[in-house]
Amino acid sequence: MLNNFKKITIGILLAALVIEAGATTFNAYAQSATAPTSYGSGVDLINIPASSLSADEAASLLFMREEEKLARDVYNALYATWAYPTFQNIAASEQKHMDAIKVLLDRYALTDPALAPGKFTDPTLQALYDQLVAQGSISLVEAFKVGTAIEEIDIRDLQTRTQLTDNADIQWVYNSLLNGSYNHLKAFANALSRQTGETYQPQYLSADAYQSIVTGSMGQGNQGGNAQGMSGRSQGMGRGGRWQKP
Ligand code: MN
Ligand code: MN
Repeated sequence: MLNNFKKITIGILLAALVIEAGATTFNAYAQSATAPTSYGSGVDLINIPASSLSADEAASLLFMREEEKLARDVYNALYATWAYPTFQNIAASEQKHMDAIKVLLDRYALTDPALAPGKFTDPTLQALYDQLVAQGSISLVEAFKVGTAIEEIDIRDLQTRTQLTDNADIQWVYNSLLNGSYNHLKAFANALSRQTGETYQPQYLSADAYQSIVTGSMGQGNQGGNAQGMSGRSQGMGRGGRWQKP
């Protein structure tokens, strides 16, 4: 009974993730001969069996749980400062990313490291959180730069850790999170460009890697907009306009 309830709960959570990832991943993966064909076609994590978990894989999950939390907490803090809608939208997406990793923490019986908002078990992430909130509070331009930095770091870390795991369930979740991050990076880079009038230059990713994300060959298939509202595209401002705090 409890088990069934858990399955249903996880199923709902993962359905939401599929909605987020599906629209963006399916087109891209459909064009790739090497990609798993099931991706984006409705396969749920719940149907992917657990595999043995190495110490590195466990450390990876614990770290990524808190790194997604860092993104959520920084964006919530910057939304409180600037009231720019993209921060709120993307923070909601980061909550879903945290939730997805929590499913894996539970599956592998790992203790959740997540603390209260703004507090981190990993001292490196605590220092990064403090630094990024301080930077993002200086100006809206700096806040957007914080957003692009977080997303680039997240993409780099997820790509690295996807390569280092052979567990299909972990790969599934990391790929879902990566596709969200591609959208988030584009949203912040576009917001920054509108604000400064300058073309965004990546800080942590190579120019080639960034270009493949922008042109949509990484993950993003639908340039026309995401009906689910999960991509974090900016709302509530005219095209080309500079944001003024309401
Ligand atoms: Mn994320
Ligand atoms: Mn993100």
